[in-house]
Amino acid sequence: MDASSELSVVVPVYNEAESLPEFYRRLTLVLNSLNLPAEIIFVDDGSSDGSLGQLERWAAADRRVKAVSLSRNFGHMIALSAGLDHAAGRAVVTLDADLQHPPELIPELVKQWRAGSQVVNTLRRETAGAGWLKRKTAELFYWLINKISGINLPANAADYRLLDRQAVDAVKQLRERARFLRGLTRWVGFRQSCVEFTAAPRLAGRTKYPFGRMFSFALDGLTSFSAFPLRLAAYLGLATAGFSFLYIIYALYIRFFTSRAIEGWASVLVVVLFIGGVQLIFLGVIGEYLGRVYEETKQRPLYLIDKKLGF
Ligand code: UDP
Ligand code: MG
Repeated sequence: MDASSELSVVVPVYNEAESLPEFYRRLTLVLNSLNLPAEIIFVDDGSSDGSLGQLERWAAADRRVKAVSLSRNFGHMIALSAGLDHAAGRAVVTLDADLQHPPELIPELVKQWRAGSQVVNTLRRETAGAGWLKRKTAELFYWLINKISGINLPANAADYRLLDRQAVDAVKQLRERARFLRGLTRWVGFRQSCVEFTAAPRLAGRTKYPFGRMFSFALDGLTSFSAFPLRLAAYLGLATAGFSFLYIIYALYIRFFTSRAIEGWASVLVVVLFIGGVQLIFLGVIGEYLGRVYEETKQRPLYLIDKKLGF
């Protein structure tokens, strides 16, 4: 590793061959203007579109460029973590390769770092081209996670940030598989600050986060920072038990003190289906957590490396 690097820039890459040349051009312009010893660590997350070939060429031609090629696609968060593991700089910036995170913001991040921030977060002001559904579901997610977890996440937080060496080393100690980095980088604490930017539309290609993947990412975030959904079963159980107790008293009263009788299998059926449904839902919630416990106990490495270039 290049111990003299002041700044490391970590870039996860998954099939970004179309965006990469423009990204590399703009990033090197910014780094040149910054005028401090820097390294660029591309993490190829199992691309199959020639991205790796470009990274190999740059790693051979540009002393600052390094590439870590993972053995297959491990996912955005794990690719970022692999980059953090290999970064040597006293400050590490992570940003996406699709140019939604403008590299021109890096000097501002560095300025905040020099002013004493150990974690400089970024907030998207708006994402040009993001659909209504994506915006609304993101709002719902941030509302929920702030309600039920101990961490305080600003809505529209992006995975574009600067971490100083202390924060990087702290995040590196968190080896959990479900890596919700937005939460983890807040969880570690330290002096945090925030910079706003306007996210551009993707330069080329399409998002690697279709709805299903986004949903499981959201579940990662919620389950790794809150056990509240598990407790919800107990609350709901208590409420139902309390309600049925009252109903039993009412039924006994009708039976013994009046000449009427309570009728209806419809109400019985409704109650049985309702309780059955609630039980299945919470069985699913327990299963979700149990599956994650299972994943963690296997203790597999987070990622496997095929090759490293430029180190
Ligand atoms: N990415 C990755 N592995 C994946 C999915 C995405 O390394 O499995 C990279 C991708 O190349 C990009 C960044 O992570 O640099 C963010 O992905 P994307 O832009 O598709 O996410 P979005 O901005 O749509 O949320
Ligand atoms: Mg993107």
